[in-house]
Amino acid sequence: MSETPTPTPIAEAATPGTVYLVGAGPGDPGLMTARALELIATVDVVLYDKLIPATALDGARADAELVDVGKRGGGEQVPQETTEALLVRHALAGRTVARVKGGDPFVFGRGGEEAQRLRAQGIPFEIVPGVTAGIAGPAYAGIPVTHRDHAPGVAFVTGHEDPAKPESTIDWPGLAAFPGTLVFYMGVRRLPEIARSLIAGGRPASEPVAVVQSGTVPGQRVVRGTLEQIAEVAEAAGIKAPAVTVVGAVAGLRDELRWFEDRPLFGRTVAVTRARAQASGLARRLRGLGAEVLETPTIRTRSLEAELPPLDAVDVLAVTSPNGARELIAALLRSGRDLRDLYGTMIAAVGPGTARLLREHGLLADVVPETFTGEALAAAIGPAGDRPRRALLARAAAAGDALPDGLRAAGFEVADVALYETVAEPLDEDAIAAIAAADYVTFTSASTARFLAEAGGLATADGAAGPRLASIGPVTTAALAELGATPAVEATEATIDGLIAALIDDAAEHPARGTSGPFVAR
Ligand code: SAH
Repeated sequence: MSETPTPTPIAEAATPGTVYLVGAGPGDPGLMTARALELIATVDVVLYDKLIPATALDGARADAELVDVGKRGGGEQVPQETTEALLVRHALAGRTVARVKGGDPFVFGRGGEEAQRLRAQGIPFEIVPGVTAGIAGPAYAGIPVTHRDHAPGVAFVTGHEDPAKPESTIDWPGLAAFPGTLVFYMGVRRLPEIARSLIAGGRPASEPVAVVQSGTVPGQRVVRGTLEQIAEVAEAAGIKAPAVTVVGAVAGLRDELRWFEDRPLFGRTVAVTRARAQASGLARRLRGLGAEVLETPTIRTRSLEAELPPLDAVDVLAVTSPNGARELIAALLRSGRDLRDLYGTMIAAVGPGTARLLREHGLLADVVPETFTGEALAAAIGPAGDRPRRALLARAAAAGDALPDGLRAAGFEVADVALYETVAEPLDEDAIAAIAAADYVTFTSASTARFLAEAGGLATADGAAGPRLASIGPVTTAALAELGATPAVEATEATIDGLIAALIDDAAEHPARGTSGPFVAR
């Protein structure tokens, strides 16, 4: 990713590339349009602003040039002229360009100016509207910008201009008289003057107002007050940009319609340490509950491409993880065999997640224990009976002894086949620091705990002032204890559902640490 837009020499092509002025929405990645995602994934060059969703460019081509033309951390914005010149140069060189902006490109986004410049240069362009912050921010605060009973219209206004200055292009008395909701973008610092001018123009001092900071993202903050008080309220709450201000009776509906902040894990940062390949379901569900999710995998699994023994002699097949189930099927097919070779074999799965994966591959588990441990699985399989029977364990290398020992004690002959191994996924310093600042760190297996400890991330995360450690069940809790750490949360049922339920219960009793950011750093 280039740091600054360096003017590389670009030769002109016979036909200019198309420029797409793309709105990326207000911050929640789910509010990006299908068209925006499609274009970002196909263009040669992306020129992007600061206020775009943290993951907006994840789908860009690996060889695409990504240029940051937004404000640098507290520094100067790349001048508009430079941005437009870049757009023109890339397009004239025959490249396709996505100019990605926060919200909608034509709502206070200077998209109009950029389109005019492109038209003047004969460069083809397309506009991709986006969900604008002035509608989405209020919506996520529980404020409908229009309402049959309260507001027949809405005006979007820049709060950038100083109402006290004669050069202000806004007709303040005219605006005050507008019969409907006023939504101000930018200029939270100008709130005192804005409120004064509106009251002077005839708007009631008692009119409801809401200020929505970082709308639609996990760090969303909203303050409510009257036109007369709002500047003071916002100042006292430390409200900062980016924020929109909603003036009108509809702002009062928040008290009845708020929803975003009421989701059970809102404001909580939750670190997910399980392997990236398996993390997406858990991460998606946590996000749906309002959490900000840190995907910080400490492990990954690697297939060992192991050979399965002849299966006609196997009486019981025990599978101890969803990944084990996946690897088992792969090993079966790799050796030219299929499900028919398991005819008559008892299938035992350690838990419902493993059973579900087997089912997806056409195998119904005969046995799933009540608790999801090796001991319980051995007990659920039961005694071998009079003649020695054979059990095949399809699982990870260096897995625990409880299951094979339990089965041997029950009279089984055990073949323990290591189908995959769990290896460390390196964690950099930033990831370790982010874990230490999280509200929760989730552990979905003993190995996630061991490898976090190995990476030096458990010591910083465990402590009274640190994140609360959440364990999926007794085996993982024992592994944490062995490493000297104490989970604050343990799932009652050792499943992902159980872990999520335990997090929700815990969050109801423990306030957020308040480290959830307004926009996740890219
Ligand atoms: N084109 C953008 C607006 C760009 S101007 C759009 O359509 O949304 C930048 C201003 O937008 C910020 O100063 C702030 O007022 C507003 N803004 C952008 N993202 C926001 C968000 N997530 N929450 C609240 N306000 C936001």
